[in-house]
Amino acid sequence: MKKISLLGATGSIGLQTIDILEQHPEAFQLVAFSSGRNMDVTRSILTKLTPELVSVISAEDAQTLQAEFPHVTFTYGNEGLVEVATHPASTVLVNAVLGSVGLESTLAAIRMGKTIAIANKETLVTAGHLVMAEAKKYNAPILPVDSEHSALFQSMNGENTKRIERLILTASGGSFRDKTRDELVGVTVKDALNHPNWSMGAKITIDSATMMNKGLEVIEAHVLFDMPYDKVDVLLHRESIIHSMVEYSDTSVMAQLGSPDMRVPIQYALSYPDRLPIQHAQRLNLAQIGQLHFEEVNFERYKALQLAYDAGRAGGTMLTAMNAANEAAVALFLNEQITFLQIEELIERVMHTHNNVQLPDLATILAVDSETRKIVQGMVK
Ligand code: NDP
Ligand code: MG
Repeated sequence: MKKISLLGATGSIGLQTIDILEQHPEAFQLVAFSSGRNMDVTRSILTKLTPELVSVISAEDAQTLQAEFPHVTFTYGNEGLVEVATHPASTVLVNAVLGSVGLESTLAAIRMGKTIAIANKETLVTAGHLVMAEAKKYNAPILPVDSEHSALFQSMNGENTKRIERLILTASGGSFRDKTRDELVGVTVKDALNHPNWSMGAKITIDSATMMNKGLEVIEAHVLFDMPYDKVDVLLHRESIIHSMVEYSDTSVMAQLGSPDMRVPIQYALSYPDRLPIQHAQRLNLAQIGQLHFEEVNFERYKALQLAYDAGRAGGTMLTAMNAANEAAVALFLNEQITFLQIEELIERVMHTHNNVQLPDLATILAVDSETRKIVQGMVK
């Protein structure tokens, strides 16, 4: 029986994790979770599962829930996230919060040697070197939840990783893949949120449309698998059936395939090295699909992907600045305060003026993160 702490239970990945935990009560037990501001969904989880500890954002919400569910302990704020992540009974932390808020609690769980199933790619982008160094020091396995990285990880099972020639991340192209750059002028939030293959949270759906999501994933792959950027490629593949590939020195290419369903990589991170059935998961029918398509990426069309490679190669706090600028810009776009193309424009301006510091410590990363958000706000005013 694996005992689980879950950060971000009320989100897209969080609820799919809950689905997996409910399907396998013999294998998994939820001991603690965090949510944000969505109290209705928090309540619905609490009627189905019986964790010991729950953290929310506000003290008021914690108090209200405490009166309704007296057998559960409620906490709140950033300290609450750390308490959930470091709950003494859990051995596995699923990090499914959004953005760099997940960083400190993840580091705290790593220092306790817990296994980290990580969906929260922003944590690996903004502070990858710290996370991986601490994971090594405290013997904490980091298992990918992101579908591409799960595919890469599965394509490395039993292999000599020294023989890897390159990683090939597949990209669907997002909601605007059939539009030219000119046609991106004036696209709306609603258009951007309409992803062709995956149903996900709002921020990552916008990231998919700008291709920043793939950029963050290139950095995530570099961090998780210690591969130089020249050996991490992106390939457009509109069907999202091949979730990524690894090419070896003998030219063999290993891939993982499946219908697009995030519960598969979520469950694999939890059941690894075993596999378990998943109810209502769609089996892959290649005869019915008939054809798979592949296309080279145009870096001028997907400028955000280029910016992410640039930030990755620059390293240091450039990664934090790029990530924070993207988070701030996407929030502004979702609020209809800036246009779609302004997202990459703002990121580029931030990167252009950023004073890069190599091998930053946690305090420097947190300072650059909050400073960058203010800079972006200032640029818009
Ligand atoms: P959602 O927006 O759906 O969920 C985010 C979760 O984080 C919610 O539980 C939310 O709480 C909580 N949250 C948001 N802000 C805060 C905060 N400041 N403090 C505490 N909790 C907070 O996101 P997704 O599930 O789509 O994505 C989560 C992570 O997983 C991201 O890093 C994303 O890139 C990654 N990912 C997602 C995939 C997907 O299919 N969705 C695929 C691969 C990776 P509440 O809603 O209660 O306010
Ligand atoms: Mg992904």
